[in-house]
Parts: sequence; structure tokens; C-alpha cells
Amino acid sequence: MMERSLNDSFEEYKAKRFYDIEENLKRIRDNICEAAVKSGRAEDAVHLMAVTKTVEPVFINHAIREGVDLIGENRVQELMSKKPELELDGVDVHLIGHLQTNKVKQVVGEVSTIQSVDSIKVAREIGKQSEALGITTKVLLEVNIGEEESKSGFAYDSVTDFCYEMAEISGISVEGLMAIPPICENSVELRRFFYDMRKLFVDIEAKKIDNICMHILSMGMSSDYVDAILEGSNLVRVGSSIFGARVY
Ligand SMILES: *Cc1c(COP(=O)(O)O)cnc(C)c1O
Repeated sequence: MMERSLNDSFEEYKAKRFYDIEENLKRIRDNICEAAVKSGRAEDAVHLMAVTKTVEPVFINHAIREGVDLIGENRVQELMSKKPELELDGVDVHLIGHLQTNKVKQVVGEVSTIQSVDSIKVAREIGKQSEALGITTKVLLEVNIGEEESKSGFAYDSVTDFCYEMAEISGISVEGLMAIPPICENSVELRRFFYDMRKLFVDIEAKKIDNICMHILSMGMSSDYVDAILEGSNLVRVGSSIFGARVY
């Protein structure tokens, strides 16, 4: 009896969350298309990543059934423990959280792209481990756009110089930039950070450095993805607006 009612309530809870995920995805996709067009681009110019940290595989798989084709996880260990349960056919997986050099070996080959490269040292290790597997790992350079001590990432003014160093590392290909702006008082202030990122992205591309392509400008999360798109983001990383608030 007890077991049955617990089960029923889990089924109800699951159905409710499935429904929420569906509705949230619809709303977010509409907002993304609208902002892309407003920024002078095609409706489909911006890629939606579902950020799945702390989310149970059953709900991630539902988002995938609803058309999500790109997911992002922050922590190597969490990714590896959930991966066997994920239905990843046709789904691209990126690492978006800070990566310690000693964890590189575990994650190379498990994700297509590491968005959170924040030092030459970690880039070299990703290159080395990728070469050992005979693959190339795509990387984005994380920029500490607000110069915050609490955040990792390259200093804004140093990114271009580091690109020349990255260009020499085999086993990786630099595909773009990623940033998390500081908490801002208002949208004007926030958009300034996104604007500066876009400027750096365009400036680096214009230098035509060997092995360095500026394809992906990854910026914008649940609270600010519309502003990020209006300033030129082409990949937004959205977690809580899809799956609900994280409890831990
Ligand atoms: C958690 C996280 C996100 C998503 O944050 P939400 O506010 O839940 O949308 C995006 N990017 C990174 C790097 C994150 O760690």
C-alpha cells in the first residue's frame, strides 16, 4: 500500500516536471528566436545549451526528447556518474565548469568541447591527453570579463596573446570564447560586458591566427540570455529556467 502511493506520487511529480520542462523550453526558444532576429540575425543563429548540473538523468532525457541537442555539465565526476543513464544519441556534451589539470585525463574523449579553459597549463594537458587518444578536443577560452577574484578565466587584455600560445598546442582546437559576467545593477551595465566580449571575439577572428577560429561566443544564462543574444552571443547556457531552481 505504502509503496504504491509513494510510487504514484513520484509519477505525478515526474509528470509535472516533464510538463514544466516542455513549457519552459517552448518559452525560452521563442525568446531566443525573437532576440536573435532583433539582433539582426537568423532565428536559428543562437544555439541553446541545457545546463544539467544537479539535474537527474530522467529529466535530462526528457529535455533531450523535447529536442535539446546540447548539454553542459560543470563537474567531471557528476558528468561521469550520470552519463551511463543519459540518452545521448545526437546530443553534444560540453564541460562548462572549472577543470583541474589532474581531472583532464578523465574528461578528454567524454565531451566534444571544454568551454572553461582558463590557463595554458590546462590547455596543454587537454592537448596531451587528446593526442594520446588520437582525437582533437575543441576548447573555448574562458574570459574573466568582470576581473573578479572569485572567478577563473583569462584577463580580458591577455586573451589575444594567449591565443598565439594556444595555436602552438596540438590536440586542441580553439573555437571561441566563454564568459560569465559579474552580477550587475542594471541591463545597461550588463550589456557593456557582453558588448566587450563580442568585440574581443571579432578582434581575435580578424587576426586570422592559425588554428584559432572564433565560431562560438558562449554567453548568457537563465537571468541574462536575452541581453547576451542582443549583444551577439551565439550559444546560451540555460539551466534553472529549463529545469527549475537548483536545490543544492
Ligand atoms: C550553472 C551554470 C549555468 C546555468 O545557470 P542558470 O542560471 O541556472 O541558467 C551556465 N553556465 C555555467 C558556467 C554554469 O555554471
